Amino acid sequence: MGLQSGEAIILDVLDLQEYDRIVVFLTRESGKKRGVANGARRKYSRFAGQLQPLAKVEATWFEKEGRDLVRISSLELVRSAERLHKTLEGILLGAYLADQMNVFAQDSEDSELLYRLLNSTVEALVGGCDQDLAARYYEAWHLRLAGVLGISEECPACGRVFGDRSASGGTLGAALPPTDETLLCNECAGAGGRAVSAQALAFLREISATSLEKMNRQPPSIETLREMEQISARIRRTFLQQELNSYRIMRETLAGLPSNSRPA
Ligand SMILES: [Zn+2]
Repeated sequence: MGLQSGEAIILDVLDLQEYDRIVVFLTRESGKKRGVANGARRKYSRFAGQLQPLAKVEATWFEKEGRDLVRISSLELVRSAERLHKTLEGILLGAYLADQMNVFAQDSEDSELLYRLLNSTVEALVGGCDQDLAARYYEAWHLRLAGVLGISEECPACGRVFGDRSASGGTLGAALPPTDETLLCNECAGAGGRAVSAQALAFLREISATSLEKMNRQPPSIETLREMEQISARIRRTFLQQELNSYRIMRETLAGLPSNSRPA
């Protein structure tokens, strides 16, 4: 409570009445905050130029017991995300990253790992990292941190190792059962499960051991990225019981563009 300050990343900016704005920001140490930036809609506001989505800022705010909204005293820009916002694809991706964090991060709850995930992803994107890879890395890590996408070498139901010989004499693959988000072997997942390729399993192992920047030097195949996108979207839908609006808008908008202007 009282006056606080710390590093934060802006997730959302909304208009509030005639002159003010509400800023949603993720702090490194004290979770997600929602604050009023008084006068931020005025032309010569002290917040001018600071309220960009995904920008990293040094924030100072005042918290009062029992109030959901904090009062923002100042936001000093530390790192802009402007480079990401130079293309339509980048704008859509930025909105998706921020929206996903807004949904997964809890108010005022310790969020160091989520903060680091968002910070390193934006950092990599601003540095020119492949957007498709960054999005897949980010969404899979989100599910991991939420505890719904465990990365295991073996089936949690029967204990057999993925890649071993299966009962039918083939190779034991991984699969998502029809109504659950735990990866099982294809025999335990039963009929109607979604097969998960060895490459997708390798991707999940790699993200837990490797930074996004390193993966960008030797990126997985486009097929693996498409498969990971589908797997993560499916698990996320089951977990949240809804699709993220920003994801739907991104997909629909990009699908409507001519293929040569769409990311591969
Ligand atoms: Zn099994």
